[in-house]
Amino acid sequence: MSSILVYALHYEGAFNKNSLGAVSEGARLAGELGGECHAVVVGDKAGLSDDLCASLGNYGAAKVHRVEGPEGLAQPVVDAMAKIIGDGGHGYALFGGGLLGFEIGAGLTARLDAGVCMEVTSVRVEDGKLVSERPILQDSSVSDVHYRSGVGVIIGRLNAFEAKETGGGAAVVEDVAVDFHEHSLKAQMVQRGEQRGADVNIEDADILVAGGRGLGKAEGFEALEELAGALGGAVAATRAVVDAGWYPYAAQIGQTGKTVAPKLYLAAGISGAIQHKVGMQSSENIVAINKDSNAPIFEFSDLGIVGDLNKIVPKLTEAVKARKGG
Ligand SMILES: Cc1cc2nc3c(=O)[nH]c(=O)nc-3n(C[C@H](O)[C@H](O)[C@H](O)COP(=O)(O)OP(=O)(O)OC[C@H]3O[C@@H](n4cnc5c(N)ncnc54)[C@H](O)[C@@H]3O)c2cc1C
Repeated sequence: MSSILVYALHYEGAFNKNSLGAVSEGARLAGELGGECHAVVVGDKAGLSDDLCASLGNYGAAKVHRVEGPEGLAQPVVDAMAKIIGDGGHGYALFGGGLLGFEIGAGLTARLDAGVCMEVTSVRVEDGKLVSERPILQDSSVSDVHYRSGVGVIIGRLNAFEAKETGGGAAVVEDVAVDFHEHSLKAQMVQRGEQRGADVNIEDADILVAGGRGLGKAEGFEALEELAGALGGAVAATRAVVDAGWYPYAAQIGQTGKTVAPKLYLAAGISGAIQHKVGMQSSENIVAINKDSNAPIFEFSDLGIVGDLNKIVPKLTEAVKARKGG
């Protein structure tokens, strides 16, 4: 009951940062509970080499359950995790968040009649059990969630858990055969889509250049793409511009978009509404360019530049390029 099962998502030979964070967190918590952290990976066996699976040991996983099955779809993972928990008696299932994590976590909760808490930003051990902390009321308060069920499901907010290499050895890799439900195999991955703004994974980017309505028009993003290119970062957006059709939803940051925590978040023409703030407030350094010195974004920026972004952004791009010698 003190062991934790974590879902790890892989794509093209690598685990994503969010999953590595969940494994690290699972290992920390399992250690405090006196149990082990196990990971489950599902996919084509050819893409899940022994070395790749065992590398999760470096993030604290003691064992990796490798399941041959459809990749990137929720229901087969629900089947796999339900079987592994049924056989292994894990007390908790942990997910790093993201759309797939939410879907699998919800399905697993229903399957196991478990207790669930979503959008978790922190987990602690209390009296030998896990307690999830979840921000509520637009992140103005935090609620503690205790589990009464046999299995507790914890679904983190995207990137809430930090990936930490423990220097631990290779994890034991165990192949698990799963009889998938008929309905679990009905959906098929036809294609992994790519869209502008999503070709770079903004959740993993160290530098984000984000644009808001202050850009004035969709073409305003061209200058931001140039700046992001010069900085080696990616472009993000507010809901206002996504709703206006200026940039794709995949790049939206905030309450109804993605949650990010890059090293640098440069916000251009963004007012700093609470619904945007909740998606980027954990960024290490926030720099804002806004022509209104009273814009709320300056209240939580590390550096504020009051001025017209149309003049500042091109100059900044020029300066970055000059500094990088190109
Ligand atoms: C339920 C709900 C969910 C929501 N979810 C999200 C969400 O996920 N993400 C999100 O972002 N929003 C979300 N919103 C919307 C949010 O409330 C704001 O409306 C939105 O974030 C504002 O976007 P903005 O900053 O681009 O635009 P605005 O608020 O219009 O701000 C534009 C800013 O640009 C500045 N500006 C204008 N011209 C220039 C210039 N030339 N140079 C420099 N600065 C300039 C202005 O001073 C202003 O501060 C949500 C709202 C609701 C009700």
